[in-house]
Amino acid sequence: MYAGFYIDHQCPQCGAPVTLAETDRLISCEFCRVRSYLVTRDVFRYVLPHKTNGRDLFYFPYWRFKGTFYTCGAGGVTHRVVDTSAQGLGHPVFPTSLGLRAQAMRLRFATPDTAGIFLQPEHAPAAATDAFVTRLGNGSAEHALHREFIGEMLSLIYSPFCVDQHLVDAVLDRVRVPDLPEDFVDNLPAREEPHWPIRFVPTLCPHCGRDLQGKRDSLVLFCNNCHSAWRAGPQELMQLDFHNLFVDPDASIYLPFWRMTIDVSGLQLSSYADLTRVMNLPAVPRADWEARALHFWTPAFKVRPGAFLRLARRVTVAQPEPSDSREVPEQSIHPVTLPIREASESVKIVLSDLIDPASPVYLQIGAIGTRLSQVELVLIPFRQKGHELGQPALNLAINRNAIRFGRQL
Ligand SMILES: [Zn+2]
Ligand SMILES: [Zn+2]
Repeated sequence: MYAGFYIDHQCPQCGAPVTLAETDRLISCEFCRVRSYLVTRDVFRYVLPHKTNGRDLFYFPYWRFKGTFYTCGAGGVTHRVVDTSAQGLGHPVFPTSLGLRAQAMRLRFATPDTAGIFLQPEHAPAAATDAFVTRLGNGSAEHALHREFIGEMLSLIYSPFCVDQHLVDAVLDRVRVPDLPEDFVDNLPAREEPHWPIRFVPTLCPHCGRDLQGKRDSLVLFCNNCHSAWRAGPQELMQLDFHNLFVDPDASIYLPFWRMTIDVSGLQLSSYADLTRVMNLPAVPRADWEARALHFWTPAFKVRPGAFLRLARRVTVAQPEPSDSREVPEQSIHPVTLPIREASESVKIVLSDLIDPASPVYLQIGAIGTRLSQVELVLIPFRQKGHELGQPALNLAINRNAIRFGRQL
């Protein structure tokens, strides 16, 4: 079951109505057949529908957090899936969360044309996530060396209110708080203009002009003609470096992974030999391991947290060398649905998961810093065997349902 919400919008080409799922980036118009790709500067902002009867509208901000909350506790890494909303302002009068409201109604993008007064959230997106992690951590009894929220969805949803003598919930046209103090409106937090245009770019390859390929929720589009990969930048499509791990003519699908070069501070961890020492592997590092640069690998797609960690661990330990092949495979490519930013933020969790919780290194995990210095997309071929997709060379297997489930996360 799809647990996200839907957005009503218009085809940027012909104006016909289109309905988007929250995860959709590629819009195919049923009327004019033009495909467009949605890009944003930071986060998407939506408004809930209202029944105002001509009164002034105040849009109150709520952050929507959807993703996995990881905790590095005494016994190792634990995780839980989080799907919630929280006030973007610590205001005592407005409801603390949206409840299930966003899932139950059609949203619209908040754009410069949206009439109403927008109240400005207290934090920018990154700081809002930090505050959310702190709050989740404070609410948990477990002592943690490190906590991280890997967001799959971070957006702002504005809920409409009318303010007269009462605070009226404009979604339901119902009094929420009666008899407000007279200076209530004067004391509302800062306002901001909705300078958030929705940008669409054509899905044509910036290199050769051919139509780019990708599923509707894919963060990366491929050109089968000039064999290039593209991701959405803040304004336009940006080219992305990609390789095939190797070419397998019998593969049924290629799964995308991020291969990241990470500057680690607070711990000597730049070579494969360093990794074997940190993991306390019994094998004595070979001389050439010292010279082999270490890369962190994670799936570039959403999948249940347990499977995410397992795949990241297996491929990071295997440290495969991608081939020179940069041809877009003929087989289907599972859509990239996990952004680079989220993958790079998960590196410390992947590292913690590789270390024995009883080792002294594990206890220092909170003091270790990680910074992404380089990233490329690597497509790994998988063969289908019953309900599983397998990659024997890396000893990887994943249930097909787990992957399908991930697209609904
Ligand atoms: Zn159209
Ligand atoms: Zn091209």
